[in-house]
Amino acid sequence: MSEPRPVVGVDLGGTKIFSLVATAEGQVLGEDRRPTQAEEGRDAVIGRLVDSVRRAMGEANVTTGEIAGVGISTPGPCDPERGVVTGPPNLPGWRDVPLTQLVSDAMGVPVLLENDAAAAAYGELHFGAGQGCRHLVYVTLGTGIGGGIIIDGRIYGGASGAAGEIGHLVIVEDGPPCGCGNRGCVEALASGLAIAREAAAAVRGGRSPMLAELAGDAPPTAELVLQAATRGDSVSREIIERAGHYLGLGLVGLLNCFNPEALILGGGLLGLGDLYLGPAVRIAREGAFDQVVADVRITEAKLGGRAGALGAAALISAREQR
Ligand SMILES: [Zn+2]
Repeated sequence: MSEPRPVVGVDLGGTKIFSLVATAEGQVLGEDRRPTQAEEGRDAVIGRLVDSVRRAMGEANVTTGEIAGVGISTPGPCDPERGVVTGPPNLPGWRDVPLTQLVSDAMGVPVLLENDAAAAAYGELHFGAGQGCRHLVYVTLGTGIGGGIIIDGRIYGGASGAAGEIGHLVIVEDGPPCGCGNRGCVEALASGLAIAREAAAAVRGGRSPMLAELAGDAPPTAELVLQAATRGDSVSREIIERAGHYLGLGLVGLLNCFNPEALILGGGLLGLGDLYLGPAVRIAREGAFDQVVADVRITEAKLGGRAGALGAAALISAREQR
């Protein structure tokens, strides 16, 4: 078999486009970052994506004839089988866009796409915290909560690629409303948005003068809640700990359902540290079956902001080697 060719991975986000060229082993040869400017509409964004890929290829000093293809990590709902972006909330005006076809026509190379959290899970599996595993669950903790499930070395997408919506496990009946339309989802209780919502309520109710002072006229963010907690504000501390507690309840279900070798936690909320992750991991370990707890390594993600692009690139390599 011939030498595996370099691959391109793109992380298409609502605010930025990140492209990289990597070897099949995950060594990054070139990169490009630029704003998405989603408000300019889909054709402008696709044009910028192609420009970004060409720029990263220029930096890596490879031509389109030398690469195996382009893998794209896309935000929110998509259909990887058909290569269609179905309707991501943070790319306004994108509805049933045949993205792989459009990029493939523009560049003349094979293109595939995958949901961002699933792509990040695949990236961690090949090049990050999940190396050596065949079964893992990846949870991304940020403004929202998403996830990717790897079973036997492959992304589990379900019937049409929609599986892995870990943030929308309902854990509290009649709990706070979630962006998905339900109530009491993990995302509505344990995400950055949930922490910000609880913090705003604490400020409105006069329960945290410190948070009110730190926030000023702006709505308090999860970072501000952490700042206040670090300075000794007990209300802020409780808000973060409670979010971690609810996350833990969600993790119990995931561990028992999937019996993974690794449970990988990624995303911006890792910055909340032990105050958030401590209760989450404790509850996960206490609540899941002993056998399942014995099998799992609960660990932080390693690839940071490159996980999605590296995962999408690894999907191209895997396709080439099939
Ligand atoms: Zn939900």
